[in-house]
Amino acid sequence: MIKLNEHEFSIACKIKKLKDEAGSHSPSIFTLAQQVPELKISVDACFLSNPYATALFLRYVEEELIGGGRLRDLLEFYPSQNRIIAQSMSDFIGIGARNIFIANGAIEVIQAVMHRFVRGRVLVCIPTFSSYYEFATTEVLFYPLKKEENFALDVEDYLRYVRAQRPQTVVLINPNNPDGGYLCTARLEYLLSALSFVENIILDISFMHFAYEDENLSLIKAEEFFKKFPNCILIKSMSKDFGVAGIRVGYAIMSEERVDALLENGYLWNSNGLAEYFLRTYAQEKFFKEYEQTRKKYIQQTQIFFTKLREIEGLKIYPSLANFALVELLDGSRAEDFVAKMLIKYGIYTRTCKDKIGLEGEFVRLASRTQEENEKILHALREIFKER
Ligand SMILES: *Cc1c(COP(=O)(O)O)cnc(C)c1O
Repeated sequence: MIKLNEHEFSIACKIKKLKDEAGSHSPSIFTLAQQVPELKISVDACFLSNPYATALFLRYVEEELIGGGRLRDLLEFYPSQNRIIAQSMSDFIGIGARNIFIANGAIEVIQAVMHRFVRGRVLVCIPTFSSYYEFATTEVLFYPLKKEENFALDVEDYLRYVRAQRPQTVVLINPNNPDGGYLCTARLEYLLSALSFVENIILDISFMHFAYEDENLSLIKAEEFFKKFPNCILIKSMSKDFGVAGIRVGYAIMSEERVDALLENGYLWNSNGLAEYFLRTYAQEKFFKEYEQTRKKYIQQTQIFFTKLREIEGLKIYPSLANFALVELLDGSRAEDFVAKMLIKYGIYTRTCKDKIGLEGEFVRLASRTQEENEKILHALREIFKER
């Protein structure tokens, strides 16, 4: 069981204060380093992103923008308007431009959709990404995913619940955050077709690029869900799979009426130069091919990381098809002490799930990083816990 010494305990108190101030999201690694200078942070296993994709995009920025002398333009001029950027992606993602809404990070679409289109009760599975209930202005119903079932969604039970409660909006996140639980395409399509009577189905596919259903790790074409089920509002962050949270970029796919309704009253230049450059780069075959290689490599390394995590005693690693694992501490350790120990002794930043509603027990979430960083995480865990 994890015990903190006096020194660790005093730093842990400072970290806890920062965490309390950050609400339901974790304080950034910069905030931590600034506020608690005695920390030597070397691995951020809190932030859920593909570091190889960040490196790829950085190379494009260096070669095309900085080397090619185009950076000044991006800083000096307005980015394109929302509809123009939507047009530039339309062919690539195979969705009509009028169905695409460009967002300043997925969080902006979540806010927009929750405020504009959610008028009745909204059903959210828990544990979940907190913004879906924090931004709600109407009554929120919680459907608990069960720990005994590894947080997998029981489709029939969920459907019974929806039929009985008749929410106006349902939110599905696939793979889910914070557990990484995944509903395969066939099951998801079955569920979506059975939900045709629900006015808004918000389907958050921010982690879809990390999921796979075949040995080739083929990309799951989530856009198809919108074509088959027009009551869907697909929400996609680019922060995690492309590792570009700093430039705030995401998009949504929804009916033309809904896009029109949002654009009639705002969001004209809600993007920025770098985000527009990113989206235009993303929609190029050449970039995407290279991205696909980083995606597959990262998935493979992530799954190996999970397998090795399962060899450590005292931890339960929940099944995940995302790029992070929900970990339950079974040796009596407290999640806060785990986070403090990992951070203070090993310089590895992780997060507790204390702020997540619907999680009873001592849970932490571990992001998969580069192979070297994952090895550091494993090394620390093997020292703290024992190997099976
Ligand atoms: C991180 C996250 C978002 C928000 O992403 P941004 O594009 O960075 O705003 C949305 N949904 C889920 C499920 C997330 O984990």
